[in-house]
Amino acid sequence: MDIIYQSTRNAAEKATASEAILKGLASDGGLFVPTAIPTFTTTLAELAKMNYQQVAYEVMKLFLTDFTEEELKNCIARAYDDKFDTAEIAPLKEADGAHYLELFHGATIAFKDMALSILPHLLTTAARKNNVQDEIVILTATSGDTGKAALAGFADVPGTRIIVFYPKDGVSPIQEKQMVTQRGANTTVIGIHGNFDDAQSGVKAMFNNKELAATMQAKGFRFSSANSINIGRLVPQIVYYVYAYTRLLADGTLKDGEKLNVVVPTGNFGNILAAYYAKCAGLPLGKLICASNDNKVLYDFFQSGVYDKNREFILTTSPSMDILISSNLERLIYKIAGEDAEKNAELMNALNTKGVYEITPEMRERLADFAGGYATTEQTAEVIQNLYKKTGYIIDTHTAVAASVYEAYKKQSGDDTKTVIASTASPYKFTRSVMTAIDAKYDSMGDFELVDELSRLSGVKVPQAIEDIRSAEVLHKTVCDKTEMQATVEKILGIA
Ligand SMILES: *Cc1c(COP(=O)(O)O)cnc(C)c1O
Repeated sequence: MDIIYQSTRNAAEKATASEAILKGLASDGGLFVPTAIPTFTTTLAELAKMNYQQVAYEVMKLFLTDFTEEELKNCIARAYDDKFDTAEIAPLKEADGAHYLELFHGATIAFKDMALSILPHLLTTAARKNNVQDEIVILTATSGDTGKAALAGFADVPGTRIIVFYPKDGVSPIQEKQMVTQRGANTTVIGIHGNFDDAQSGVKAMFNNKELAATMQAKGFRFSSANSINIGRLVPQIVYYVYAYTRLLADGTLKDGEKLNVVVPTGNFGNILAAYYAKCAGLPLGKLICASNDNKVLYDFFQSGVYDKNREFILTTSPSMDILISSNLERLIYKIAGEDAEKNAELMNALNTKGVYEITPEMRERLADFAGGYATTEQTAEVIQNLYKKTGYIIDTHTAVAASVYEAYKKQSGDDTKTVIASTASPYKFTRSVMTAIDAKYDSMGDFELVDELSRLSGVKVPQAIEDIRSAEVLHKTVCDKTEMQATVEKILGIA
């Protein structure tokens, strides 16, 4: 069956998978969604015998139906190779009764690598398939991890350029260092005076600017997005839920068909949406537990049915989740609106103009797959310390938000279904927050001293990504105001 995509805001805007990957965002500002979610054609027992790359093919072929087998397998082989420091790609670790799915074994030690190591290959393959000659300009706003993962994925990929905007004071020192030391003649990294939502709004505005698109086209450029709104990122993320389930099936933890809950530390709603799509495609998942930090706009939404971004933006120790507009939620809203693009467009328009919308009671009923929770910065630190003391396992701050929400969920609901916690970053990426959570005395140590101390405590070798930045030179120093983003892009491309 061919899967066709359409905009969440206009049923008439349709695209094949490769066209949707090339465009990123639909021309009306909507997001591409499959008009029907495919179901698995391989049994769980069969998938349990396959390795990561094979599972990836079985899952991705269902969604990316206009790619040939050779094209898709080629993309998968080039993405999930020895850039990952384990052949398992996404290993599971059991600690204190939960199964941590470690999604941080790629080049930049955060879960964004799971999708961004394959997106450049999907995108360049899609360009070839559609006879696109233009140079593809990847424009990305990042809360820290996407930026580096996208830079690493696209650096020196022929036919592409990548420009990354990040909030100058809103990412961790290691995240910033990782980005500003990025090599590759086609890479640009820019700090903005503003927060992540400012960066994301600025990028969206450029995508929606028809005049800019025309200028770009005249000069042989076209924009595409590496943000998690691109289905070329969403689809590869479905894979690891299937992989996790079938590993637990293979080792006897789960019986075939037994429900598995997942807890996902959430920001832009991409990761948890992938779990939802996995469930819709037939994976026996139970509750999808959406974990937020102090920026608990999603928690409030699941509680009340009101999405309200009009609130204070709080900087937390889990910066990749410091987000008030969760872009991918739109795909869920579209689904629970009964796949009604018009109704979804109305709500998104309300979000744009008033910063708030409310869903109907009927729509709320369709959210039964989800549970929401949040953890404060203190609770996050507590969980890191407790888990370390109890088991010796050290988790990062984002994963700790999920672990804290999981504890609370279990207590409140009495639901003791087996559970996977998406572990979205290596503790090495947020060393200071992690180490001071374990013991306040570590705050006096330098960043790299802390790295060595973390290695001593956890018994986990310092990842190559961290070794690489110890001595790397800063190559990107541009900082601009949030109002100057477009002018900066025009200057970089020489189209001003
Ligand atoms: C991006 C990110 C998240 C949030 O994922 P979404 O798909 O945006 O919800 C959580 N943790 C880490 C470490 C991340 O990098």
